[in-house]
Amino acid sequence: MCGIFGVRGHPDAGHIAQLGLYSLQHRGQESVGVVAVDQHGTAHPVRSMGTLNDAFAQELARFPGGMAVGHTRYSTSGSSTIENAQPVVARSKGGFLTLAHNGNIVNAAELRLALEDQGSIFASTSDSEVLVHRLARSTSPTPAQRLADALCDVEGAYSLIVAIGDTLLAARDPRGWRPLAMGRLGDAVVFASETCALDIVGATFERDVEPGEIVSVDASGIHSLHPLPARELHQCVFEFVYFARPDSRVFGGSVDRARRALGRRLAQEHPAPTAELVFSVPDSSNSAALGFAEASGLPYELALIRNHYVGRTFIQPTQAGRDAKVKVKYNAVREVIEGKSVVMVDDSIVRGTTTRGLVAMIRNAGAREVHMRVSSAPVTGPCYYGIDTPSREELIAANNTIPEIATHLGVDSLGYISLEGMLESVPSGPHGFCHACFSGDYPTPPPTDPDKLRFGCGC
Ligand code: AMP
Repeated sequence: MCGIFGVRGHPDAGHIAQLGLYSLQHRGQESVGVVAVDQHGTAHPVRSMGTLNDAFAQELARFPGGMAVGHTRYSTSGSSTIENAQPVVARSKGGFLTLAHNGNIVNAAELRLALEDQGSIFASTSDSEVLVHRLARSTSPTPAQRLADALCDVEGAYSLIVAIGDTLLAARDPRGWRPLAMGRLGDAVVFASETCALDIVGATFERDVEPGEIVSVDASGIHSLHPLPARELHQCVFEFVYFARPDSRVFGGSVDRARRALGRRLAQEHPAPTAELVFSVPDSSNSAALGFAEASGLPYELALIRNHYVGRTFIQPTQAGRDAKVKVKYNAVREVIEGKSVVMVDDSIVRGTTTRGLVAMIRNAGAREVHMRVSSAPVTGPCYYGIDTPSREELIAANNTIPEIATHLGVDSLGYISLEGMLESVPSGPHGFCHACFSGDYPTPPPTDPDKLRFGCGC
């Protein structure tokens, strides 16, 4: 997954983008980048592996400019290199072209081979570079038309922010897989993956970029185009479940309200009658656990403490690393748990590594009974549209029944929200969402090369 940010019309655009990226850091911690575009149209990239840091800020301070594009990235293991860090910058037709992408292009391999056949050479393994080449080939007169040309047979998920010359562009794929919001900061126009990044820079939310829309911002103002064929809406339900921050609004709805509704529905579908308290696996499950507590009448407790100085467990490429990281990341509060029958709410179980480690930790802290409740349906398939889920073989719910999972995790009971319950709980549900990783109902054929290590940016 990735976070993207763009600003045009602010004298300190690079700094604004950097600030915005602080609020999109949860969407990717593998690399970070800001490209500041100065008044001559020259693009100055600052990119670094890992998260935003002081050195990055100092480097960026050297580059003033009125327009900037930013990106936070995380991908599958293997493609974690500085060459794949974004935004991508290229020179084309005498000017600079900068692009930041969130999503996954499912026919990237096919498009790339076609370009290579015509002589293109690539500097990275990222699917986003395919878009840069397609942009460079367009002969259309305006930046927005060039972007429309570049996107015309692109399949899959993309929210994009692109700077060409003096124009800032924002686009969303016609199915609307990934979020993208637009806001105003005085005279400046700002785009961000989530509204929490508008809040941090002091911008006011104006609207979402619409599925299939290209918004173009230049000296003459803001223009909107809908050049791509309309498709059935498939917004990613996992953004509400796990990915986005609860202080954001995505797809026109509040993430906090969605998670609380998921927790309430979970409590109705899978009550835990013998339990004495409920707690979350912080932070992504906090709001769902609050919803569960509200609907069940159980007290909400802080039984697990998260160390905020380590990243998301998933990012560890090896199983051994992931196991150790559970302990590095969480610790149990014995005083809350000892002798109690507890409900532990998490937003998802993927491989089961985290949950298994946490259940052992909770039992070691003296819990009498552990009831696990999950505010998403069982994850049974990989995501081809930008969430980094492992292959089917590694997904615990793809290969085991619920009782088998409960035994593996070591819990007294296990309840997942139903697919129907999940879709009915999110704002403007149940239709218009992609739930392929839960239902197997994939809106596109699988990627032409599903090997994300070779081609996918996985962000
Ligand atoms: P697992 O140990 O593989 O079952 O991981 C489940 C934990 O990872 C849950 O606490 C989720 O909040 C979190 N999680 C779920 N999906 C992802 C993802 N795509 N990237 C990072 N973390 C995730």
